[in-house]
Amino acid sequence: MSEKGKELYEKVKKNINTLQTDGTLEKKFGDFWKFACTIKTRQHDMRYLYEDTSREFVERYRERLIKMREEFVENMQDYVKRCIDIMTKNNMKVLYAKTNEEAQQFFMEELGGSKVIYKSKSVEAKDIGIIDFLEKNDIEIKETDLGDVLVQLFDYKLPSFQVGPGAHFTEKEIADKLKEVYGVELEPKAKDIVEYFRKTYRIELLNKIKISLTSANAISAEDGTIVLGENEGNISLLTRATEKHIVVCGITKIVPTLLDAVLVTKLQSRINNVSFNYISLISGPSNTSDIQGTSVQGMYGAKEVVVILVDDWRTKALEENLLFKEFLKCIGCRTCNYVCTASRAFGNIYASKYGLGSTAIIRDYIHNGIESAVADGLYLCTNCENCYHWCPISLNLGEIMKSMKKEATEKGFCPPPLKEYQDKILKEKNPFK
Ligand code: SF4
Ligand code: SF4
Repeated sequence: MSEKGKELYEKVKKNINTLQTDGTLEKKFGDFWKFACTIKTRQHDMRYLYEDTSREFVERYRERLIKMREEFVENMQDYVKRCIDIMTKNNMKVLYAKTNEEAQQFFMEELGGSKVIYKSKSVEAKDIGIIDFLEKNDIEIKETDLGDVLVQLFDYKLPSFQVGPGAHFTEKEIADKLKEVYGVELEPKAKDIVEYFRKTYRIELLNKIKISLTSANAISAEDGTIVLGENEGNISLLTRATEKHIVVCGITKIVPTLLDAVLVTKLQSRINNVSFNYISLISGPSNTSDIQGTSVQGMYGAKEVVVILVDDWRTKALEENLLFKEFLKCIGCRTCNYVCTASRAFGNIYASKYGLGSTAIIRDYIHNGIESAVADGLYLCTNCENCYHWCPISLNLGEIMKSMKKEATEKGFCPPPLKEYQDKILKEKNPFK
């Protein structure tokens, strides 16, 4: 084992100790997470709001989704070009960034002199490095999804639950925090806390947003429509009550047709067992032709819609057949975490700065290399393939993780206990002898 390997092994061991120590943030999240995963996986078999269960819903569309993602990846450049052409015709400003750095530069130019942005749906922005870049450039980032607002309020830096990033804070903790930060006395009840934000932050969102940032659940190459699902109404405000709406996402958010885009968005809500009470279909900036038929851009909604489509690693993965090429098909529902043996056991120490679980570790590998993936807990993956059997597009994350482990092992990062097993298997044909 290399010196670097020893260092990474000690780091992961230390993380596991922290996870097992009462009173740590990791332990608190880990306990909550196990419970959340159990509930989430049980819900897959329950008739929740619909006649069918989410598992039945997924099975009904699995074949179509698999074919659709294969078709997209095989013809990725064609779809990207088609999408850019139609969006441009629809008066959106489309910027194609070859790298993350170029996307960050585009974003800064679009900000102009503005020092504050309001945002929601940040996984893609994190992947593209926009969030780190804005922080470095002293741009104030205002979260709008209540869960993210709470995470920001508590200054919680660890990766968190995807569909409720603040769900591990108790009502009492939130009420106490609001008293400490804003001096308000609230009953420690969800209803009162929500009402407080409705009465205060909603007014700010309606009146102050000049520039907003979102990603997209999916974008249709057929007509350039951006599809965004949500349940709070914050994305509706971010995309309407703003001067400029900036969408930043990887080119893999593109799907062939509008129906595919709506299906992917609906699937993300069904498979997570959350309701998207609002689904926005955005095909261009707000406009009117009500005065003598003269078309004027910017009526009540956003005056400008800017879309930054980012390639970075994606075309390279396809052309060079890189080990994470299959990851291009991922639609980002992140529900593989609920069934993942390692994620359930190790909570937010099996994670990276891009979020929880193996998809976040793969993103870290793509951007920062194998050492980062090992530090994130790569070897904690058991290769059980639960992710593969659950994934709505049958993406085999376990295989990608296995290839990454192979690379890590060749570089001398294999943890000693695994090396011992390997030696016993090779020598005795029995790992326990
Ligand atoms: S790999 Fe995970 S996040 Fe990606 S589509 Fe499959 S289940 Fe969803
Ligand atoms: S193969 Fe690895 S990533 Fe997939 S579910 Fe099992 S432990 Fe998780």
